[in-house]
Amino acid sequence: MKNNHALITGGSRGLGRAIALKFASEGMDIGIIGRDRSGLEETKLLVEKHGQQCHIIQADLSLMDEVQRASEEALAISDTWSVLVNNAGVAKQQSLREMPLADWELIHNVNIKAVFLLSRNIVECMIAQKRGKVVNISSLGAFFGTHGLGAYGASKAALNQLTRTMAVEWGPHNIQVNAICPTVVMTDMGKSIWEKPENDGMRKTFLDRIPAGKFGEPEDVAELAWFMASPASNYLNGVSIPLDGGKTVKP
Ligand code: NAP
Repeated sequence: MKNNHALITGGSRGLGRAIALKFASEGMDIGIIGRDRSGLEETKLLVEKHGQQCHIIQADLSLMDEVQRASEEALAISDTWSVLVNNAGVAKQQSLREMPLADWELIHNVNIKAVFLLSRNIVECMIAQKRGKVVNISSLGAFFGTHGLGAYGASKAALNQLTRTMAVEWGPHNIQVNAICPTVVMTDMGKSIWEKPENDGMRKTFLDRIPAGKFGEPEDVAELAWFMASPASNYLNGVSIPLDGGKTVKP
């Protein structure tokens, strides 16, 4: 995978940063997209410690003209991206009856609309190379009706469906598209929901249902993302894999 370039959205912290560092440790150069300049700079420094390059693209992926600009900037930096990780995401805990339409739209803009637009722009250079990998960071929430996460779950279910169509349409060009569906990971996003005192009961119920007895770590996601980005997964296409310590299969 040396001399390969991976473009990762939401590289300023959390899972995106963990994925960037794993890929850099394996010899890949990285491009990261996000809004927070200081977080992006911090990731860049950490990537460079592995001796790899890191390009920063500052953009707000909730705005489609920004997604378009970020795509063009990415393609100006390199026309040989071989991996795209659609990781940036937003979650807000609100019941369906209380959720403002603007929040529903924000969640869907970042979690699904930006993925569609960025991916179809970047895939052109993968088609030209006759190879590529797209890794979509979805969520276990795509499979369940979780109280207060209706918009988020709907956006992630849409992402799993988009993953299937991307796999079917781009597979003939030797591009594999797969999704990871993690359970709770205590990143900023994880903490913003699962550390709220009013969610103590729900957190305990969740944990009790995980045979591994613990939530996931950013590195768990990064390892599976690495597998999906590497030639080891060349015959894997169109799947959305739960990464949940066994929660989904526990009756
Ligand atoms: P996080 O710590 O909150 O980080 C979210 C990332 O997304 C940040 O890098 C952020 O960058 C980026 N982002 C958010 N809105 C953006 C926007 N409008 N434009 C550009 N970038 C934006 O969350 P995380 O836990 O790492 O989540 C990463 C992915 O994993 C998400 O898709 C999430 O849905 C998924 N996931 C997380 C969990 C969990 O429990 N943590 C579980 C399942 C799935 P900036 O702030 O710099 O813009």
